[in-house]
Amino acid sequence: DIRPLIAGNWKMNGSRAAMAEVSALAAAHPAPGCDVMLCPPAPLLPIMVEAASGTKIAVGAQDCHANVSGAHTGDTSATLIAELGATAVIVGHSERRADHGETDAAIAAKAAAAHQAGLIAIICIGETEAERDAGRALEVARSQLAGSLPAGATAANTVIAYEPVWAIGTGKVASVADIDEVHSALRTALADLMSAEDAAATRLLYGGSVKPGNAAEIFAVTDVNGALVGGASLKAADFGGIIAAA
Ligand code: 13P
Repeated sequence: DIRPLIAGNWKMNGSRAAMAEVSALAAAHPAPGCDVMLCPPAPLLPIMVEAASGTKIAVGAQDCHANVSGAHTGDTSATLIAELGATAVIVGHSERRADHGETDAAIAAKAAAAHQAGLIAIICIGETEAERDAGRALEVARSQLAGSLPAGATAANTVIAYEPVWAIGTGKVASVADIDEVHSALRTALADLMSAEDAAATRLLYGGSVKPGNAAEIFAVTDVNGALVGGASLKAADFGGIIAAA
């Protein structure tokens, strides 16, 4: 059985004061039945690592550069993220694909850098509304998966997050049938990209308007192994409700 991962992506939200949510979450869920992670903006990483120390909450970053160091103003290396005590990094979020023109190849290079630094890479994929309407959802998910997964990816160092772009921050959650269709296609596709053992054990997260009220039905889908949560990860009460459903 795959242990689920419930990861919160704070995006460009949070502050020192928001560490109170980390403490509240840890107090409410001292021994969660799933892996729990929060991914704050990069400057908050060491502060959150400190706030989460001694708890079951892991900390991840939201992006990294493909290089270890160098002339890349404003970027953060996976090596530094690991040194600060984070254990994972999200790569290829649709907001970075859209805002920063990140390609599948660039995302694969970032994921490889994450692996090199000993971090788990949470690789995000997902179709736009126009692509879904054109009947291309599966094709896009498969091609982003193949293009963004680096050589050397294993079930231990890689998590895939399926986040349909039209479901992010919109309150429009994908239907259970749609999630089931995409996740089982991804599970099958992984078998061509990794060993059979790794393909079967790699965690597939769903993301897009996951809330305490819809989490249980999403987690009941066969190939859903947790969630990547945006808005509902900012408050301990909401995120805790999703953790409890896992
Ligand atoms: P929401 O949960 O706010 O829809 O965001 C999902 C997401 O993009 C997580 O990475």
